[in-house]
Amino acid sequence: MKTIRTLGLGLILAVFALFISLLFVGQYKLTNQAFEDFITQKNIESPVFRDALKNSVFDQEFSTPFYLANSIAKAVESANETHKKNKEWSMVIWEKPHSLAYQMVKSSGTGFVVQNKIMLWFLTFGLAILGALLFMLPAIKLKGPPGIKNNHIFHSSATNRGWIAWFVFAFLISFYLVLYFRPSYMINWIYLVDPISESLSGNPASQWFLYGFLYCVIMSVMAVRMYIKYRRNKYQVLRTTSVLFFQIVFAFLIPEILVRFEKPWYDFKNAFPLDYDFFFRWNLNELLENGGFGLFILVWGVVLTLVIVPVMVYFFGKRWYCSWVCGCGGLAETLGDPYRQLSSKSLFSWKVERWLVHGVLVFALLMTGLTLYGYFSEAYEVFGIKVQSIQDLYGFLIGSIFAGVIGTGFYPIFGNRVWCRFGCPLAAYMGVIQRFKSRFRITTNGGQCISCGNCSTYCEQGIDVRAYAQKGENIVRASCVGCGICSAVCPRGVLKLENGPEEGRIGSSDVLLGNAMNLMDQLQDK
Ligand code: SF4
Ligand code: SF4
Repeated sequence: MKTIRTLGLGLILAVFALFISLLFVGQYKLTNQAFEDFITQKNIESPVFRDALKNSVFDQEFSTPFYLANSIAKAVESANETHKKNKEWSMVIWEKPHSLAYQMVKSSGTGFVVQNKIMLWFLTFGLAILGALLFMLPAIKLKGPPGIKNNHIFHSSATNRGWIAWFVFAFLISFYLVLYFRPSYMINWIYLVDPISESLSGNPASQWFLYGFLYCVIMSVMAVRMYIKYRRNKYQVLRTTSVLFFQIVFAFLIPEILVRFEKPWYDFKNAFPLDYDFFFRWNLNELLENGGFGLFILVWGVVLTLVIVPVMVYFFGKRWYCSWVCGCGGLAETLGDPYRQLSSKSLFSWKVERWLVHGVLVFALLMTGLTLYGYFSEAYEVFGIKVQSIQDLYGFLIGSIFAGVIGTGFYPIFGNRVWCRFGCPLAAYMGVIQRFKSRFRITTNGGQCISCGNCSTYCEQGIDVRAYAQKGENIVRASCVGCGICSAVCPRGVLKLENGPEEGRIGSSDVLLGNAMNLMDQLQDK
């Protein structure tokens, strides 16, 4: 068994080295003709842009995408500077420089990677999946008593903020920075998934397709690990299957297939305000231009946020979304499971969490209010504030940096729910309902608790579950995502996730038990 695991690990490391080295190979050539076709298609009229590129990159061959991408982005910036100074607004290129550079570099690739996409896909994605399975599957047969094991989790440098964790942290942060801000640097990775994208949507892959595909692959592989680890816990097996289903079908396959039928790309489970650009002008226009189907999406999006989400939270708590449906939650519960013990349980973190997560919710609502006001009044500025600038600020700070770079990049350092706990505005919205108007609670049978602390240790939301258990108090915290791990790791069966009547929900089960016994005594006396 150990040999198979070592083989799997060796395969993963070899594939990782190949995957990284792919970034630095290839041939890229931007021909004059390709450039002309591109700017005609994009309606770019700037002669300054053309002149800036003519001598430095046209018809030259580059062995990496970096120089070409940077030259194009710089040319966009310098052309825009000139046109803005001369007030030649029709010649300004409004697209982001590195986004435009990405598209041009993508169409200029030739050489080994472009010609061997399928073979390289198997050598990278295919072998990585095989290596991961070889590494994980023997865990079924590992010796020891049955049950969930977290043995040596605080002795492994991968899970105790040791050097492996810091390496993973650095890799994830770099990955997200390149994905959001320099996608042309990962162009060879994107080529590898072109055939899959073409078979689904009919279009070549973008960096977002690559991200969606990677997301599904990583979740699927890590779900196998969850199935093995929690195989005796039906709740964990079911909700792992559920998040996997919603990610693969709703967030990946359906939106891509919609594009093939010339419909808007839409993830039907992604509720506002997590789906923060739902009410942006470009999205509303696209939906309204799409006839009946676009209108259906518009109505669905509003009903999902205003009716379905709160009603479901009332009946089941926010776990129905955070732990059974959401993609961010899905990644946190699969890829992030080995890091859940790193979530801080301090009172300070709880304070920061409440201020930050509700602050993001207020920011999202204000931004959307301004956006809608601007949309209906056809104004581009509201109270002297440019609507676009507020949207850009939210997209940069919350959409990219918080949700992506920090939210996932910090898994190995601050635990797996950094985004859900500190930044997700939808979690904040559902948390308010869960706290004050819901049937969900975790009941605690305090008398059985042996204070081992497993529950608190593995609570990814940083809740000190043991403190509630010792007092025999129900847990009705706004931040609880109902993952059920506290209950799964409790050796005494103290904790139960329940949806019951609202009466008596907030309060100590011991107190309730005491009251009930007093009542019985009184009845007997009578
Ligand atoms: S209290 Fe339990 S169910 Fe809630 S988030 Fe923490 S571990 Fe998950
Ligand atoms: S895991 Fe169970 S027994 Fe241990 S402290 Fe938590 S509630 Fe008590």
